[in-house]
Amino acid sequence: MELNIAHLYPELLNIYGDKGNVLAISKRCEWRGIKVNVFDINIGDKIDPDFFDFYFIGGGQDKQQLMIADELQRQKEFLTAARDNMAVFLAICGGYQLFGHYYRPHNAEDIKGISIIDAYTIAGNTRFIGNVTVETDFLSPNTLVGFENHSGLTYIEGDTKPLGRIKTGNGNNGQDKTEGAVYKNIFGTYLHGSLLPKNPHFTDYLIKLSLQRRYDNVKLTALDDELELLAHTRGIGRKY
Ligand code: GLN
Repeated sequence: MELNIAHLYPELLNIYGDKGNVLAISKRCEWRGIKVNVFDINIGDKIDPDFFDFYFIGGGQDKQQLMIADELQRQKEFLTAARDNMAVFLAICGGYQLFGHYYRPHNAEDIKGISIIDAYTIAGNTRFIGNVTVETDFLSPNTLVGFENHSGLTYIEGDTKPLGRIKTGNGNNGQDKTEGAVYKNIFGTYLHGSLLPKNPHFTDYLIKLSLQRRYDNVKLTALDDELELLAHTRGIGRKY
């Protein structure tokens, strides 16, 4: 089997080592003999919505988000088409915010998003920084662990659902106990870390979903994740 990955704007949106998510997906495929083709998509590059199985966009400060906002608008029709033909997306923090309708920074114009998820973000007065534990309904174990660093408060609406419920940390907005967003095969989250190396079960979930676009009966051989998953058994619900 073969997996085509689009890494969106890696030079601009790669804060807190978010590139580690692409490395985790690639490595866990290679360990299973699955061929991985990673394409960096930079400003001005063309996106073929039928070619890519998995898209990754990382986080960035307000400045970097502003720098790619116009570019994302130019790519909106292609990324929307990719979403609708069930490509898989993982969007972290600043990238996640721009997949919604807008991000409203402090004392500045709204940064328009591409509305491929039904969500919006408003900069808050507190910067949420720290470890996060999330409880999901679709993973086993059912937890996700990571690190948040954002001032944006994200609110999700309509058919867009939360990625999970906050057990430790703040998540989307520190108020409604939700973290992240899911719509079709788009997964948005505030979890840096980077996220996937700490959550091999979620990595495999995304790999399987991405391969299922083109292959039937996808089965991933088990890998030894004992150490990574040990982190999921400590301190849930307790401030680390
Ligand atoms: N600039 C956004 C915020 O502060 C996103 C930050 C990030 O990607 N870590 O909320």
